[in-house]
Amino acid sequence: MAIDQTYPEIRAAVASLCSQYQGGYWRKMDAAKAYPTEFVQALTSAGFLATLIPENYGGAGLPLGAGCAVLEEVHRSGGNGAACHAQMYTMGTLLRHGSEEQKEQFLPAVAEGKLRLQTFAVTEPASGTDTSRIRTNAVRDGDDYVINGQKVFISRTEHSDLMILLVRTTPREQCVKHTDGMSVLLVDMREAVGNGLSISPIDTMMNHASTELFFDDLRVPVCNLIGEEGQGFKCILDGMNAERILIAAECIGDARWFTAKSAEYARERTVFDRPIGANQGIQFPIAKAHIQTEAAALMVQQAADLYDAGRSAGAEANMAKLLASEASWAAGDTCIQTHGGYGFAAEYDVERKFRETRLYQIAPISTNLILSYVATRELQLPRSF
Ligand SMILES: Cc1cc2nc3c(=O)[nH]c(=O)nc-3n(C[C@H](O)[C@H](O)[C@H](O)COP(=O)(O)OP(=O)(O)OC[C@H]3O[C@@H](n4cnc5c(N)ncnc54)[C@H](O)[C@@H]3O)c2cc1C
Repeated sequence: MAIDQTYPEIRAAVASLCSQYQGGYWRKMDAAKAYPTEFVQALTSAGFLATLIPENYGGAGLPLGAGCAVLEEVHRSGGNGAACHAQMYTMGTLLRHGSEEQKEQFLPAVAEGKLRLQTFAVTEPASGTDTSRIRTNAVRDGDDYVINGQKVFISRTEHSDLMILLVRTTPREQCVKHTDGMSVLLVDMREAVGNGLSISPIDTMMNHASTELFFDDLRVPVCNLIGEEGQGFKCILDGMNAERILIAAECIGDARWFTAKSAEYARERTVFDRPIGANQGIQFPIAKAHIQTEAAALMVQQAADLYDAGRSAGAEANMAKLLASEASWAAGDTCIQTHGGYGFAAEYDVERKFRETRLYQIAPISTNLILSYVATRELQLPRSF
């Protein structure tokens, strides 16, 4: 049995919604590299994407653990929350660091589904994981910031009205700390596209609505600055922990989907006059994937609990993401092996989920960077960079 007792009503409601979007729907989206608009609309209308928005701004005001339950169930059903999961964590940057005016202007509309806040733009081609080296810069000109630069692998930009954008407002060399001098701007994509912002889709291994962004003298009003100028890195940090925990929950959902599929197939597929699952060479890897998943799920739960208690959750968020992404990958690999040739046939959905879950060892942060974080911050080992 999986340890999934948290938020049973939410889980049941999400599972029921997802049952209307089964494998055939996701395969069609995947083959066409299409955005799952109907699914996202259904999730939005049911209020699930507003789970974490406080009640006074029109959301459900629930803790991060509830967001984890929503996204885990989406993935456990065979679906993919990547089309819309960002709203849950990008919203936090606005909620925690935005002015009251900004929150009142945007959050109720986001909660209602009138505005989509699905884009979080940090990564750049030249900076890679070293965020302090981003080059996209914003220069103050009257009541505007003028933005120039480039971002890469930014998801869902063509399906979002608002973007949380990290820019440099002070050159790195002029800052005492390299992570100083960056700022967060809320960009209204509806006005920006064609007026200094252009979007170029990137074709990726899985259906992810990934894009490259080019900024050419894009003007953003100064009133759209979130938090203090120069303190942007701090503003996105706690959102990054939330992102890691939520994505870890998605990985747990994937892992549980893979293991359920493996067990079902291994019970039914008969070769050499017996179910393949009777062979320990098949059943042991499935059992091991299950054990790995349940252990990772405990860490995800621990990270979400710490986050919800307002305690420092950096180490646990990172460890949860690492363990869960490795558990889903191991469960996916086992699922392919269990299915033999059928694991490669699109109609079984295993190969699609296998491609989808691979991402989470790279994004939103790669495994090596998590190991480095734990080694240097938790274990006080010397830094290598
Ligand atoms: C489908 C997809 C969607 C994405 N969506 C978004 C998004 O919406 N917004 C956004 O901002 N970004 C997004 N990203 C970007 C993602 O966060 C980055 O790809 C990821 O953080 C890794 O950065 P990089 O690709 O530049 O790799 P690099 O930094 O170039 O790293 C390459 C490899 O080298 C390793 N490495 C680097 N430095 C070290 C070191 N010092 N020690 C050991 N190993 C090291 C890394 O672990 C990695 O395995 C997305 C990426 C993908 C593929």
